[in-house]
Amino acid sequence: MNTAQFIPDRPLETIEKASFTWQTPSNIALVKYWGKSDPQIPKNASISFTLKNCHTITTIDFSKKETTAEAVFELFFEGKEKEEFKPKIASFFKRVQAYCPYILGYKMTINSENSFPHSSGIASSASGLSAIAMCLMSLEKALNPNLSKDALNKKASFLARLGSGSASRSIEGPLVVWGNHPEIAGSSDVFGVQFPYKVHANFENYQDAILLVDKGEKQVSSTVGHNLMHEHPYAENRFTQANENLGKISKILQEGNMKDFINLVESEALTLHAMMLTSNPYFILMKPNTLEIIHKIWEYRLAKNSNICFTLDAGANVHVLYPENEKEAINQFIESELANYCQKKQYIYDSVGLGAKKL
Ligand code: ADP
Repeated sequence: MNTAQFIPDRPLETIEKASFTWQTPSNIALVKYWGKSDPQIPKNASISFTLKNCHTITTIDFSKKETTAEAVFELFFEGKEKEEFKPKIASFFKRVQAYCPYILGYKMTINSENSFPHSSGIASSASGLSAIAMCLMSLEKALNPNLSKDALNKKASFLARLGSGSASRSIEGPLVVWGNHPEIAGSSDVFGVQFPYKVHANFENYQDAILLVDKGEKQVSSTVGHNLMHEHPYAENRFTQANENLGKISKILQEGNMKDFINLVESEALTLHAMMLTSNPYFILMKPNTLEIIHKIWEYRLAKNSNICFTLDAGANVHVLYPENEKEAINQFIESELANYCQKKQYIYDSVGLGAKKL
């Protein structure tokens, strides 16, 4: 894979101070990414809906200083210094400095906030790291005004991936594929691309209600989770299955077959959890209420002949997915029934979004 394309190859402007603010979304995978090799190369291709309301807003103030060997930054999260977040960001800067050598010449002050709970399986790492990547790319654009929008987005996704794999899918929308796949034109292991084919109207403005079954921090971090796939007895079959599922969902998204969509998406969610159930050490990431909700969704689907379905991330929270034309009825179902299984009855209404926004 040619990553040299991401190293700036022309003299850059000189800028003393700059400040950029980006709002970038979280995303929810339909075909899951679980298993990687160094540096953040996925074992199979994945596809996600970009979200709209679950997002990070990050400002980075850059001020020129003597160039040093390591990136220098301060981090404020929701107005306060956040030591726990720093190691991931420090290793992100280390990984990207070959591609963004200019960052070593600036002191960076990062101010960030999320619209949803972090570290609980709603992919704050994806929105958090993609927001930093977009701020770096805004600086690069100021230093190199010739950079095109396409090149900027591609490099932003490439950088974001080095911080958190799924962050590569949080630059554009409404559907992003990350990972090289023979049936997806332009797809790559090193950056995410917008799903390149026309999507059926059934999937326009798709709804995602995130039911907060457990807002606490995940018992298994993403890094530990991905490592579980190294010695996993079913790993190779899983990677093959995921790639086959990506080919299938590409067709489903173009043709609009809702029943096939539901079957594939729910199977992917349960398979992801099955990988954790069958690894060693083994984990059960669902809670009793996760299962209650799944059964309620299945009952509702049958009783109402509905197209409601669920997906899960690597945690206990449930993403309820449904078409826009069922929004009113399903929101009522969520409020009257499913909310009872959520921590403090909390849930987040979201829908598919279009990606990063400069503020
Ligand atoms: P999640 O499911 O929320 O992605 P992870 O444990 O995988 O949970 O990732 C959480 C990590 O993502 C945090 O520890 C922090 O390093 C990073 N993160 C979350 N929000 C932000 C943010 N706004 N800015 C920078 N990093 C963030």
